[in-house]
Amino acid sequence: MTQTVELRAALRDLVIANRILAREGVIDGFGHISIRHPGDPKRYFLSRSRSPELVTIDDLMEFALDNEPIDQRGRAMYAERPIHGSLYAARSDINSVCHNHAHSLIPFGVTGTKLRPIIHMAAMIGAEVPIWDIRDEFGDTNLLVTTREQGNSLARGVGAGRVALMRGHGATVGGRTVRETVFTAIYLQVNAGLLLQARNLGEVKGLSPGEIKLTADALSGALSQDRAWEYWSSRAGFSGV
Ligand code: MN
Repeated sequence: MTQTVELRAALRDLVIANRILAREGVIDGFGHISIRHPGDPKRYFLSRSRSPELVTIDDLMEFALDNEPIDQRGRAMYAERPIHGSLYAARSDINSVCHNHAHSLIPFGVTGTKLRPIIHMAAMIGAEVPIWDIRDEFGDTNLLVTTREQGNSLARGVGAGRVALMRGHGATVGGRTVRETVFTAIYLQVNAGLLLQARNLGEVKGLSPGEIKLTADALSGALSQDRAWEYWSSRAGFSGV
């Protein structure tokens, strides 16, 4: 495959995103992040089945939105690819998707206690994070999103927002850019941990709807996004990127 300069840079950022999410504890041995193909909206890139901390540029595979590989070459693939393909198909504004099992999110998915932003840096998660429960439509499963029907259901759960919690499993996060997705996934986890702490102390005062909108607008700008990306890239071993 002959790669354009733009595509090569996007794939490098996807490798860095994998390493950042591992370094920041959003993803452990499991979970994954993808990007939509910058030159073909009907395709996306995702690593072969591998722990994100170990992903290199040679591990990245190209998929169609039905989650079939363009050129598999015998490589093992993540079972939960439909999370990515379905969200890209449903949302033309989303160009990067992260699925993770971040531990601090699980209590909110299983109790129904509302996960909402209490710290300004988490405003991009939206006023209230929806919970998607695979059992509602599919009964007893192994909880993995492995079919297009399940992926489409999850995409409906995300709705018009950036995030959905997945009951007993984790979360899915989408963003307009890979940087925005990484930013949102990290602060989703941070906010959940802080909210768990705050609830032990008493009544929690979260951000108001107006504060959420104003703060999300500010944080989604290049100034904040690039500064955060440079910091997390450095911590993940990519200094001077
Ligand atoms: Mn999973």
